[in-house]
Amino acid sequence: MPENFTVNKRLLTDEEKYRRAIFFYTFDSNIKLEYESDNFDDAFDEYGQPLIKIKDNFDKLDDETKSLVLEFVKQDVYDESVDFKCIRCNYEERVDYEEVCDLWDEDEEEYPKLYCPECDKPYFIPLDIWNKKKNK
Ligand SMILES: [Zn+2]
Repeated sequence: MPENFTVNKRLLTDEEKYRRAIFFYTFDSNIKLEYESDNFDDAFDEYGQPLIKIKDNFDKLDDETKSLVLEFVKQDVYDESVDFKCIRCNYEERVDYEEVCDLWDEDEEEYPKLYCPECDKPYFIPLDIWNKKKNK
C-alpha cells in the first residue's frame, strides 16, 4: 500500500459478490445473462458492476460453477480504488487500484501520473497529492 495517498477500501455486499462471480464465471460460456433492467443505461451500478439478476442467472449455472460462485461469496472481498484529479483541468474520477498499479512504476515514481480521461494529458494524479500541491 502506498504511503503518500489513500486507497479506499470497501467490503463488497453478498449481492455484489454474487453478481461479480456469476458474471466472471460465465464470461466464456454460452449463457446469456439476464439484467435487472432492459435499459442499457441502468445495466451497471455506481461502481461499474453489471446489474444482473441473481437468482435467475444462478439457476442457469451447472453445479460446478454454482459451487465456485458460492465459494467466492463466502469470502471477504474488497473493492480498492483511488480518487484522482487532474492538475490541468480539475477533472475528478475514482480509479480501480489494480488498474493504477498496472500503470504505475512504484520504483521510478513517487506517485502515479495517469492520462486524464477529460483533457488527455498526463496530469491525472491522486487527489491527496493534488491537495498537497494546491495547498503549498
Ligand atoms: Zn485533465
